[in-house]
Order: sequence, then C-alpha cells, then structure tokens
Amino acid sequence: PICADVFNEPVVSDDGVTYCRTCVPLVGGAESGGALGQAPDESLLGAVRHLPIACRHALVRRKGGDSGVTAWRYDHSGCQQTLTVASRLEHEASCHFAFAPCGLPFSDSPMDNCAHVARKVALEQHRRTCSHRLVDCTYKGCGRRVQARKLADHQNVCWHKPLECPNAPCMWRGTRRELGAHMDVCPEAEVVCGREDTERPSECCKHGCRRRMLDIHRTQCDYRPVACQYCKTHVSYLRLRQHEETCEYRKVLCEDCGQMVPHRRFAEHTRLNCAAASRRCEFADYGCTDRCAPGELASHLIENAHAHLRLVMLQLERVKGDMTSWSEDVTGVRQAVIASVQRSAEELDQVREQVNKMRADGEAETLELRRRVDTLQRLYEETERGFRRQLVEVDEEVRQRTTLIADENRALREVLAGCLTHDQLREVLREVEAGRVNAKEQVEAVRAQVERHSLAWEADAGALNALARDTAREGAVAAKGLREQCVDLAVANKERWGALWGEMRAVGRAYAAEATACHARGAVLEGRLERLNENNNPHLLVRSNGSGGAQQAQRDAASRKLGSEHGGAARGDRADSARGGGVGSDVRGGAGGAGGGETNAMAFLQAGALGGARRGGG
Ligand SMILES: [Zn+2]
Ligand SMILES: [Zn+2]
Ligand SMILES: [Zn+2]
Ligand SMILES: [Zn+2]
Ligand SMILES: [Zn+2]
Ligand SMILES: [Zn+2]
Ligand SMILES: [Zn+2]
Ligand SMILES: [Zn+2]
Repeated sequence: PICADVFNEPVVSDDGVTYCRTCVPLVGGAESGGALGQAPDESLLGAVRHLPIACRHALVRRKGGDSGVTAWRYDHSGCQQTLTVASRLEHEASCHFAFAPCGLPFSDSPMDNCAHVARKVALEQHRRTCSHRLVDCTYKGCGRRVQARKLADHQNVCWHKPLECPNAPCMWRGTRRELGAHMDVCPEAEVVCGREDTERPSECCKHGCRRRMLDIHRTQCDYRPVACQYCKTHVSYLRLRQHEETCEYRKVLCEDCGQMVPHRRFAEHTRLNCAAASRRCEFADYGCTDRCAPGELASHLIENAHAHLRLVMLQLERVKGDMTSWSEDVTGVRQAVIASVQRSAEELDQVREQVNKMRADGEAETLELRRRVDTLQRLYEETERGFRRQLVEVDEEVRQRTTLIADENRALREVLAGCLTHDQLREVLREVEAGRVNAKEQVEAVRAQVERHSLAWEADAGALNALARDTAREGAVAAKGLREQCVDLAVANKERWGALWGEMRAVGRAYAAEATACHARGAVLEGRLERLNENNNPHLLVRSNGSGGAQQAQRDAASRKLGSEHGGAARGDRADSARGGGVGSDVRGGAGGAGGGETNAMAFLQAGALGGARRGGG
C-alpha cells in the first residue's frame, strides 16, 4: 500500500496491515524513530516467491529514464526466459544475455585491451572481427602475431616485406632485409667514382654514374693512377704533367757538358762529375778568373805564370798579415789573462786577510765571553760562601739561647726547691713555660728568615747559571758562522781559478792550432812555387830556342848549350829561385815564429800551472 510495488519481504505489523519490510510506517510520525511491531507474512512470502518474472537481462535502461520500473523497457534481443522470484539471482549470475567487455587480447596492460561491451551471446560474433584480436603477419617468414589494428604499421617496417629494387630498370625482387646488400651491388645504382687525388689527398673524383658504367669511366678517369716516367711512382693522370715538371728524378741538360743529369744530382754533377768543370784555372782559388777548354789549360798556365805568381804572393802577404794580427791578439789575451790572474791573487790575499781578521775577532770575543763567565762564577761562589757563613752564625745564636734558657731553668728549679709554695711554684713554672714558648717563637722566626734567604739565593744561582749557558752558546754559534764563511770563500776561489785555467788553456790551444795551420799552408805554397819554377824553366828555354814541338832530348841539349851561352838568362833563373827561396824562408820564418809563439805559450802555461799549484798549496 506504500510503494505500490510487489511485496518485498512482506511483514504483518501491529496495525494488522501487510507492508514491505522497508515500507512499515513509523510510530507518531517521521521524527519519533520507532517503527510498529512486525512479523514476517509467511503465506504471502511463499506466494511472492513463486510469482513468474522476466530475467533482468530482458530489460534495457530507457534513454532519459529516471528511476524505478519506468526507467526500463523490454528488449526483444534480451533473455526470453521466465523465472520465479526465488530462482532469479541464481539465473541472472549465469545468464548468457548479461553485458560484458570484450577484453581482447587480454594483455597485462588494460589500456591495450578492447573496451567494447556487448551481451555475452553477441561477444563471439564481435571478437571474430574485433580490431584488438591478434593476427599473423602475412609476410612469408615473419611469424609475428600483432593486433589487427596495428598490422599495417607493422608491415610497413617488417623486415620480411617483399620489395622491388628502386633503381629501374633493375629487376631484383627480395625482402626489406636483403635490400641493403643488393644496393651495394645493384648495377643500376647511382655511384660516385671517388678516386683519390695523389697530390692532394683531400680531393677526389666527383664523377657520378650507374655502377655498371663505372669500369668504363675508370679507364678515362682524370684521377686514374699513371706511372711517372722518371720516378715510376703512380700519380693521378690530372697531375702527371705538373709532377713530371718538378719530379726530382727528371733529367735536365747540363749546359756545360751537354749531358742529361737527374735533377736531384745536378748540384753534385756540376761540382764533381761535370767534364766541363776542368775549364777552371788551377789558380782560381788564388783569384785567377780565366776559364779555358781542357786542351788550353797547359798553355794558359805557361802564359800566365807571372800573373799566377803575383796572385800567390798577394795571398801570402794576406796570410802574413793575418798571422801578425793573430799574434797581436794572442799577446793581448795573454796580458789580459796575466792581469786577471794577478787580480784574482790579490783578491784571494784580501779575502784571506779578512778571514784571518774575522777569526781573530771571533777568538777575542770568545775570550771576552769566557772572562765574563768566570767573573759570574766567582760572584756566585762568594755569595754562596756569605750565605753559608750567615747560616752558621744563626745556628750558633740558637744554640747559645737554648743553653741560656736551660741555665735559667736550672737556677729557678734550685731556687724553688727550698722556699716556694705550691702556688708560687706553679706561677714560676707558668712564667718559665711562657719564656720557653717565647724563645721557641724566636727560633722559628730566625729559621724562617734563613729559609727565605736560602730560596732567594737558589733563584739567583739559577739565573746566573742560565746567563752563563746562553753566553757560551752565543760564542759557539758565532765561531761556527765564521768557519762556514771561511769555507765558502775558499770554494769560490777554487772555482774561479779553475775557470781561469780553462780559458788560458783554450787560448793556448787555439793559438797552437792556428800556428800549425799557417805552417802547413806555407809549406804547401813553397812546394807549389818550387814546382812552378821547375816547370817553367825548360819551357821558357825551349821557346827562346824557337822549337816548341822538339823532343825532350833535344830540349835538354839545347838548354845545356844555351845555359853556357846565355849566362844572363841562367842568372835570371837563379835570381828567380833565390826569390823563391826568400819566400820559402819567409814562410818558414813565419812558421818558426808561430812555433816560437807556441813554445812560449806552453812555457807560460806551465809556469802559470806551477804558480797556481804553489798558490793553491799556500
Ligand atoms: Zn537471462
Ligand atoms: Zn572486441
Ligand atoms: Zn611481419
Ligand atoms: Zn637493383
Ligand atoms: Zn673518376
Ligand atoms: Zn716522378
Ligand atoms: Zn755537366
Ligand atoms: Zn789562371
């Protein structure tokens, strides 16, 4: 009667009316909170349980329906079974018309599964075409299973996708996996030649063509390697001319001798091997600038004998001048060395004097310090003696007073023995006791005084001792410093001596070497002059005879004859040879002078060494 619906748990209440359990009215209105008494209406409940009803999965919610029975409508595609109220829950739990989600492909991530909801009987139909179902990749050999909605994406990247070669007209077919390998060999692929430039490694051939055309290009490529005709190294064709123009193995023409010579040996050739080099005159070193063919050299030497002699003389003059200037240099150096040695000896003496003075000063200071220490020691001993005397006196005084008190005591006791009353005796005894205490206090005071004196004395003695120790230490430090200074000075002097000796020895050696070289040069010149004289005389004689092509025997005979006939000419020869001798002796004199210089230098060095040794010893 309240909800106007089928009885839900019908009860009979106190007012005799049957209600649903939840519909029983409250006593005294809604505010009171107490319900009427009630009891289950068993007969009605049995009747309700057997009422025929439809399955809830025969109903669907009405669009826009609010609540209650009117919110639902009957669905002909739903469950058609007729139930009783009692069997409703059991049936509905297993009803094939219940709604459920598809859920394919049942993966672990719920977002990836199908969210489609349908009656259980319709799900089979849906799942056959569900976009979330797993399907096999259709490409041969792949074997992957992917969701139907993702198949296209997968197949776009599947390694087993069948492909054609993109380089028409190549007819190759294969999978995506094989395409990479094919592209490396595809005859129709566009490739770049890429041959390296041998002269400029950063450059290469940029020519592009189909791979099958590359071999043809390579035979005409500007960068193909070609062997240089001179050095045989392979050079890019483009650079060959440039290389061969500068190749160091290329042959160049020697314009002097007409020979083809490798470029890198050209300098050596002109210096050593060129046949035309003999065109220079033998006296070119002495200033002859003439050049002549190999056959003309002998006549050039004869014709220019005097000119050559003059050149040699000039050279000799220059050498002599050089010798003189060197000799002056050496003398200057020797004087400088002597002066420097003397200076250093003087300085050494000064340093030695200074050291001696410092040592004397140090000794005097040490003596002074020792004297002061002795004085302090004496002072300390005297003070100690004074204190001891005082102590003895105090002791004596204490002993005298003690004796005095003892005597007084004895006298009093004698006096009291006969005549004093007991009280008097006690009085006297008290006085005596007071006197004794007094004496004791006095003795204590004296002892304290002695104690104080003794402490003061010990403190003074300690201070004096410390002073004496400090003074002794200062003296030792000063003496050590002086010793170190002496050693440093000695070391510095020794180094200086060593450097001077090195310098002197080097100068002596250089001087001796130069003298030897001059000597050798003089000897060579002398030899050449003699040879020249020997060579010249017969020719001159033959020419004066007017038979240049005559035999040697004839020449000898002619020279003997002419020698006797033309004494003037012979005298001229002698004069020449005498001049030559003069030059020779000059050279020897120069060399002798140099030799003398060398001897002098050695003697000087030895004398210096002895002097140094003596000074070092001193
Ligand atoms: Zn059902
Ligand atoms: Zn689905
Ligand atoms: Zn696949
Ligand atoms: Zn291809
Ligand atoms: Zn190329
Ligand atoms: Zn070359
Ligand atoms: Zn040549
Ligand atoms: Zn010449």
